[in-house]
Amino acid sequence: MLYLYNTLTRKKEPFKPFRPPAVGLYACGPTVYNFAHIGNLRSYIFEDVLKRVLLWNKYNVKHVMNITDVGHLTSDADSGEDKMLLGARREKKTVWEIANFYTKAFKEDMKKLNLLPPTTWCKATEHIKEQIQLIQILEKKGFTYVAGGNVYFNTAKLNDYGKLALLDRQADAQTQARVEKDPHKKNRHDFVLWFTKSKFPEQAMKWPSPWGPAGYPGWHIECSAMSLKYLGPQFDIHCGGIDHIPVHHSNEMAQSEAALGKKPWVKYWLHNEFLVLAEGKRMGKSEGNILTLAELDKHGFAALDYRYFCLGTHYRHPLMFSREALEGAKQARKKLWERVVELKRAKKGEQAAKGPEKELKKRGEKENLEANMEEDMEESMEEGKTRVHKYLQQFTEQVNDDLNTPQALATTWNLLHDEKLGGQEKYQLLLQFDQVLGLDLKKVRAPKREKVPAGIIKLAEERLQARKQNDWTKADALRQKIQERGYQIDDTLAGYEVKKLTN
Ligand code: AMP
Ligand code: ZN
Repeated sequence: MLYLYNTLTRKKEPFKPFRPPAVGLYACGPTVYNFAHIGNLRSYIFEDVLKRVLLWNKYNVKHVMNITDVGHLTSDADSGEDKMLLGARREKKTVWEIANFYTKAFKEDMKKLNLLPPTTWCKATEHIKEQIQLIQILEKKGFTYVAGGNVYFNTAKLNDYGKLALLDRQADAQTQARVEKDPHKKNRHDFVLWFTKSKFPEQAMKWPSPWGPAGYPGWHIECSAMSLKYLGPQFDIHCGGIDHIPVHHSNEMAQSEAALGKKPWVKYWLHNEFLVLAEGKRMGKSEGNILTLAELDKHGFAALDYRYFCLGTHYRHPLMFSREALEGAKQARKKLWERVVELKRAKKGEQAAKGPEKELKKRGEKENLEANMEEDMEESMEEGKTRVHKYLQQFTEQVNDDLNTPQALATTWNLLHDEKLGGQEKYQLLLQFDQVLGLDLKKVRAPKREKVPAGIIKLAEERLQARKQNDWTKADALRQKIQERGYQIDDTLAGYEVKKLTN
């Protein structure tokens, strides 16, 4: 059974979707006015693991992700500057060019991080009609008012507004600090559904609506309208970072439940904690301390090193970023890579070894010996199967326990260190685990071997024989000889590997 921590109930709950095996998953996507920073990307890595765990549990996941290309101001609560305009001014481009460029950049980041693409991408600017229709439903039901030319959602009309944020208790003070005073708002938490009076004279994205000839939507309505279109009036999981709890998700929930009359609108709300810096500060654009994947790359870190780094901490814990910690993840991933290369080589070796065995069998030689060997093999295969089953069970329990990736990684390493398990079994299990971890292990290629002189190979073979006969003195002497001739020999699952020594 899969258990997920639900922000709505503040509890870990068994996952029971509305219409199994179908699962509707909505993830609030990026605001495309700049490159995503690695804090944002932590959010999308968490959502990717969530999706992969749902798939691991054989659910059919419909994953919808929006692209916010209009309406998001620098403060989540209708104040500050327009983010898209900010980008356009900064780069002397049109808002449309900015949106296209950063949408493409975001999708490239996703690929580098091996994030599964959503079933449906949807852009706010391509769903203006749906947003207007939803506002009209709210208007008809008496949840809106017009003030200063803009249409507002009246939070006083809902008796449970803010239940996601436990408003009036923990989150109220926080929200109060974030919401600038707007003289048109009747209640402090009211929010704009549709702007007709833009405070930005150069506003380029404008559409006609029942409330005026040239306006644009507030930020929150796009997610309600698009999730309704693609996932229906009730769906299973909605996710994002914890900063979305008090404003964006509270407002999405308020307008959707008011318009659609379904409660709960969404059954499970999942939120990831922040990527923070050593001083405990969140990584964020407004904090001016952001790093992008391109910057990590300049410092020698691949996107998958960052993915590995994120997997090492549970998504509901703050993740402390430091170069040293990322270096640790990079080294661990490198080791994992090397292990996979060894297992792949061992696999090739095992297959090659099967040829002569078959030949012997055909000729009917050493029949008794064969029979004994087969018996032994059957026994060890039985034991192997049990161990494989044990690992699969353990891994499943861990990822099903609210996506415990740090433990799942530990299990992966235990598996690699397990001497009682054959290389083939390890390799197959690893590939299975990677369906959740998403480290792209299938693509691991062994580096091309350089040509090693026949004399060195001969010494290496002699050393292998010596090791098999537990003649360690001879083996060490041969290693020394190989080194003196400029080569390094390492023991691997397949036998050995010889490399040219570099200074
Ligand atoms: P935005 O493009 O600003 O809407 O943010 C995209 C996603 O990143 C949202 O789900 C945010 O909650 C999340 N986010 C923003 N900053 C961080 C951070 N420092 N750590 C983790 N997630 C973050
Ligand atoms: Zn949203």
